[in-house]
Amino acid sequence: MTAPVPSNATSISTCVFCIDNPLGKSVVEKQLVFTTKYFHVLLEHKPITKGHFIITPIRHTLNRFTLTKREDYDLYEVFKKINNIYQGVFNTNTSIVYEKNGMGIPHFQIHVIPVSNSILSRLWVQIKLILITLPGINFFFRTLKEPQLRAISTEFNKKIILV
Ligand SMILES: [Zn+2]
Repeated sequence: MTAPVPSNATSISTCVFCIDNPLGKSVVEKQLVFTTKYFHVLLEHKPITKGHFIITPIRHTLNRFTLTKREDYDLYEVFKKINNIYQGVFNTNTSIVYEKNGMGIPHFQIHVIPVSNSILSRLWVQIKLILITLPGINFFFRTLKEPQLRAISTEFNKKIILV
């Protein structure tokens, strides 16, 4: 999915998470689950597990430390909606969260992955997190096609309780 982009924060015209360029607009439209005032919540197209989300600020910004206070506050709403989905679909409110502060794509991302109460399931998610980090193992992870992304997004949206 990711075209190589220069590693500086001003490369908005090629950023895959910025909607003011054709590539970014297409990526966000395809993978979008919901929007808040300041964030897009997307489905990871190569998920570790079903429900693997990418939270990205709508504004192009490099990392957590360049978020405004309003954006930071809005994250509460984002996580609350994600929790509605995890509760409704997977019956869990436990997740693994990691941030990409400019690593790879220079647009801040928070990855959220649901995990169940089962130790084996948690262990498997963590093994997959290691595997996806290794070069050349990417093939192991299935890429979701547009109809699958759409179906999952629709299913998840039914679980969002408006706050
Ligand atoms: Zn961007």
